[in-house]
Amino acid sequence: MELDALYQEVILDHYKHPQHKGLLSTYDAQVHHVNPSCGDEITLNLTLDNGSISALSWDGVGCSISQASVSIMSDLVIGKNVAEARVILDSFVELMQSKGLKTGNAEILEDAVSLAGVSKFPARIKCALLGWMAYKDAVLSASNK
Ligand code: ZN
Repeated sequence: MELDALYQEVILDHYKHPQHKGLLSTYDAQVHHVNPSCGDEITLNLTLDNGSISALSWDGVGCSISQASVSIMSDLVIGKNVAEARVILDSFVELMQSKGLKTGNAEILEDAVSLAGVSKFPARIKCALLGWMAYKDAVLSASNK
């Protein structure tokens, strides 16, 4: 898999220095998602406060794409309200479905545009989406409380 060198550095940086990794003991919802095709696993704890993501923590194992992606996602959604985070999530899913044809909206996606190249590799898209799908699931579960 070949990704742009600068982007590779962003991904590697998040992989080596994951943001918000380490599960907080209090949460509204906890989810555990796995990507069997690669062996990636993520547990994610989420707390909502008045429709905003007041806390999100995660723990996981797996490839650099999956772990960097959940780290990037955490940075992006914490402090946002659920509707704002939804825009980011939808934008990222669209990017991952673009088969390498889109570069992503950097204003919305920030560091997540570094994963744009992954969309050319169908086998890796699930790696990149794992943390985001865990977040989506956790929001649903926390909102239904
Ligand atoms: Zn993976």
